[in-house]
Amino acid sequence: LRAQLLDRQARRESAARTYARTLPVAPVSAAGAEVTGADGRTYLDCLSGAGTLALGHNHPAVIAALHGALGSGAPLHTLDMITPQKDAFTTELLRRLPGDLRDDAVLHFCGPAGTDAVEAALKLARTTTGRTGVVAFTGAYHGMTLGAASVSGPLRMRGADGQGPAAAQPVTRLPYPYAYRCPFGVGGEQGAELSTRLLETYLTDPSSGMAPPAAVILEAVQGEGGVIPAPASWLRAVRRITAEHGVLLIIDEVQTGIGRTGRFWACEHADVTPDILVTSKAVGGGLPLALIAYRPDLDTWQPGDHTGTFRGNTLAMVAGEVTLRTVAEEQLAEHAEKTGARLRSALRELASRHPVIGDVRGRGLMIGVELVQPDADPDATGARPTHPHYARALQKACLDRGLMLELGGRDGSVLRLLPPLVLTDAQADTVLTRLADALTDVEP
Ligand code: PMP
Repeated sequence: LRAQLLDRQARRESAARTYARTLPVAPVSAAGAEVTGADGRTYLDCLSGAGTLALGHNHPAVIAALHGALGSGAPLHTLDMITPQKDAFTTELLRRLPGDLRDDAVLHFCGPAGTDAVEAALKLARTTTGRTGVVAFTGAYHGMTLGAASVSGPLRMRGADGQGPAAAQPVTRLPYPYAYRCPFGVGGEQGAELSTRLLETYLTDPSSGMAPPAAVILEAVQGEGGVIPAPASWLRAVRRITAEHGVLLIIDEVQTGIGRTGRFWACEHADVTPDILVTSKAVGGGLPLALIAYRPDLDTWQPGDHTGTFRGNTLAMVAGEVTLRTVAEEQLAEHAEKTGARLRSALRELASRHPVIGDVRGRGLMIGVELVQPDADPDATGARPTHPHYARALQKACLDRGLMLELGGRDGSVLRLLPPLVLTDAQADTVLTRLADALTDVEP
């Protein structure tokens, strides 16, 4: 069955597919952090539907809520009309928002995908400020539609010269504070400080020749870019500088939100509140949902300015509401913080025995393991060259050992672990054992 499914898919689908190619599993059932394939093998899932499944697969509370909604006679789709399901979802989301946005934010449903919400955030920033430019950061990932791709890192489709088929928005790209591979060659806090100084100079120096941008967009922990947490001091400095210069701060919490990083939102680690917060993935409890939450004074859109047919699916709101509530009530952010810290410390221990691991980092259950060429010379800050070829081999060895994980980073040399927040201690141990075994299976 597995071979049949994979073969049929290979013949029917575009060659642009990725997961099907790197993870040749044909999942037929799943529960919690485990997925069973058509071949009968069970895998530990450190992918969680690219981070959508905060509560894991088929969480009983989510399934019960969905069954309840389906059997209730409630309409499945009501465009953006109010429904009891929408009211319950928005009430729950509003009370979980960070800082000044809590209870007061305006919510705008954007469509099924994170990239839809990024588009909306960029467009709202342009509408409100009357300006068009955006500052984004190297290595960022915000989505695949034209506006979102234009503020993402070196996507092949955007082109190194910014002239590729996916380039649209006028964007200035500044260095992200990537401590391990510091863009300034100094590392750590000092590198982060140089990054903010560059932003400040850019916004204040008329000789840069640039009109002030509408917004700065960032991830508090870069996900696809290689799981790179920004220092809290950097986030606070960016918040201060943007506020001083009337530039809107958009924080993309599509991957980091809903407890993933050990706080409900990653920006809360730094006590920073964006002007526009972007959320998707886990906010829909595994069903497609995306929205932006923003300061009431930015509510400048007129009816019809930003609409769409699939904005706010009833079932996604039902699954989302129960997910938000369960993450809060069961303190899953705290669990993610604790479990993530334990995993990172064990991975660092593993790194001391395997020099192919150059860096272990992350926040909560968003963990990155950067693979390097152990025999190559380190650069000025101690980082060795990346090892994308080995990363692919290791990803495959992990899959053979029953561990599904994804690659990311500037050239795909970072193992990314994004397990459900309900990962148990025993499962975390299994993740470590399988990864350690895989490391010995394949030689760097
Ligand atoms: N922003 C971030 C930070 C993401 O990680 C992603 C998806 N990985 C997106 C936006 C785009 O979301 P989607 O794939 O749902 O369009």
